Amino acid sequence: MSLMNFPSAHLPPHLLELREEVRSFLSHELNTGGFEPTVDGWLSGYSPEFSKKLGKQGWLGMTLPKEVGGQGKSPLDRFVVIEELLAAGAPVSAHWVGDRQTAPLLVTLGTDSQRKKYLPGMISGEIYFAIGLSEPNAGSDLAALTTKATKVDGGWRLTGRKIWSSGAHHCHAMIVLCRTLPLDEKNRHAGLSQLILDLDQPGIEVRPIHLISGEHHFNEVSFDDVLIPDNMVVGEINNGWQQAMGELAYERSGPERFLSTFPLFTEVLNMAQNSQDPGVYRAIGSLSAQLLALHQLSLRVTTSLSKGESADTEAVLVKDMGTQFEREIAETARLIFPYEDISDDDSHYQRFYQQAVLQAPGFTLRGGTNEILRGIVARGLGLR
Ligand SMILES: Cc1cc2nc3c(=O)[nH]c(=O)nc-3n(C[C@H](O)[C@H](O)[C@H](O)COP(=O)(O)OP(=O)(O)OC[C@H]3O[C@@H](n4cnc5c(N)ncnc54)[C@H](O)[C@@H]3O)c2cc1C
Repeated sequence: MSLMNFPSAHLPPHLLELREEVRSFLSHELNTGGFEPTVDGWLSGYSPEFSKKLGKQGWLGMTLPKEVGGQGKSPLDRFVVIEELLAAGAPVSAHWVGDRQTAPLLVTLGTDSQRKKYLPGMISGEIYFAIGLSEPNAGSDLAALTTKATKVDGGWRLTGRKIWSSGAHHCHAMIVLCRTLPLDEKNRHAGLSQLILDLDQPGIEVRPIHLISGEHHFNEVSFDDVLIPDNMVVGEINNGWQQAMGELAYERSGPERFLSTFPLFTEVLNMAQNSQDPGVYRAIGSLSAQLLALHQLSLRVTTSLSKGESADTEAVLVKDMGTQFEREIAETARLIFPYEDISDDDSHYQRFYQQAVLQAPGFTLRGGTNEILRGIVARGLGLR
């Protein structure tokens, strides 16, 4: 049996200063009405103005090399910044996917012209990307996807349908994973490619899918014979599966996988100050211990990735545990401070609680369901 590799990791002292800097920026923004905090702000808190402010602060594209306009900082710098943004419930969804995975993808595998076209706007918080993986009949079994691109003179004609595309109605472009060769049942991962699709062209329809709360943050996106020029292929044609899987460790291990409901936890802590109930303190102790452990595990995966080491299995474990923790915060809040006992004065608690409960079903689905993740962990440990 293989073992997990979580090498020890510490934040260097100078990052405490950065943390303080981000906190004071956020406190100023909050006090001056710069944003309204929300649970799950990385998926549902949309504010282009706020994204642009982060760009001005130098907190987007932080880890990208200076030659492409990035800050050339370490992944640990970015880790600290995003932990603070998430903890404050800041509206960061507009740029989230692009900053987390598309910009690094373009640095590694993109062409000069792709980098020139998209990176400056992504770094300034003005260009946003969506993820085009899931389809109506291909979610966990992603290799079953049927969206296909057919070679024509000068490019590819794209036809098909993506679903659950977060933020696609606001985004400028999407990285679409599609078939560029017919399905080979013996090797279903072969013949897939990643194409960059600008979302403002004819033949693309973005239809909203509303959440149970009535909110709209994901979509069904269909493509009807859309022309994608050759220079919009990312990396190697037919190598899309390997490329897309390479993005997943970044997608799965970050603090957004355990901090989505942190604003509610903060309110629980505030309410606990007026409580004499030992049960309340026990519950908070348990959540705090889990939070610290998750922070450490996520930090360790970030450290491994920053050294170019593989951390796929570890990232998956962090996501599985972290997303359960996000739900546990909502469940604990319900048990120790029942909604019906809350007065209108505690309106922050009420709002965060409602948001957490209504968003919670998605936590353990998005980015790969926990059942699928456990299969990956078992395989990584050599048990399957
Ligand atoms: C909030 C949210 C945002 C999302 N954003 C995006 C996005 O931006 N872009 C994008 O491409 N996708 C996005 N997704 C889609 C997400 O990646 C899929 O929902 C997920 O991969 C599961 O696929 P599915 O919904 O088709 O479920 P299915 O694959 O149909 O699974 C249904 C159930 O069966 C279980 N199951 C399936 N196969 C197995 C198996 N082999 N063993 C055990 N159990 C199994 C699953 O765990 C699940 O509980 C988002 C989803 C959510 C909830």
